[in-house]
Amino acid sequence: MERLTAEEAYERLRAGNERFLNDALEGAGRDEARRRLLAQSQHPFAVIHCCADSRVAPEIAFDTGIGELFVVRVAGNVANRSTIASIEYAVANLGTRLIVVMGHDNCGAVAAAIAGGEISPSLDYLLEYIQPAVRSSDDPDPDAVARRNVQVSAERLVTESDIIREAVANDGARIVTAFYHPATGQIELV
Ligand SMILES: [Zn+2]
Repeated sequence: MERLTAEEAYERLRAGNERFLNDALEGAGRDEARRRLLAQSQHPFAVIHCCADSRVAPEIAFDTGIGELFVVRVAGNVANRSTIASIEYAVANLGTRLIVVMGHDNCGAVAAAIAGGEISPSLDYLLEYIQPAVRSSDDPDPDAVARRNVQVSAERLVTESDIIREAVANDGARIVTAFYHPATGQIELV
């Protein structure tokens, strides 16, 4: 499979979401030929760092096939050690040059972070990563906090990772933010 620049990858994602919105999915690259092609290697053209929410399905919403997206999912699309490490792998080893950090409307993780309180040690650990967005959002509305949370995660990819920061500064990599509207399927790509 061909390698794409960040700009080409961005355009491919935009076009794929357009097809999704128009109920015109191609669904290409999901067959035996694609599986065979990818048996020994992968060169995904974009990283999608998004929430685990079942309504947020990047391969469908961007109409992509197997091997095209390197999807890193965790509730609240937080940038912690594990998610940053996963993205570093795609950037350093697979040549992926576009990183999309994508939040969404009605995010349960964001709502839980706003509500506060103790739930479980693991959930409390996760939600702690969303608290900076809760504190720094201009607007207390959960969707506004979710948008702020995307910014926080995108910033952390740069501040916490030498590999990602270097790739952006010197090697053609780009980080963009996105916001998904599950009710319509629309993805705002910034
Ligand atoms: Zn969510």
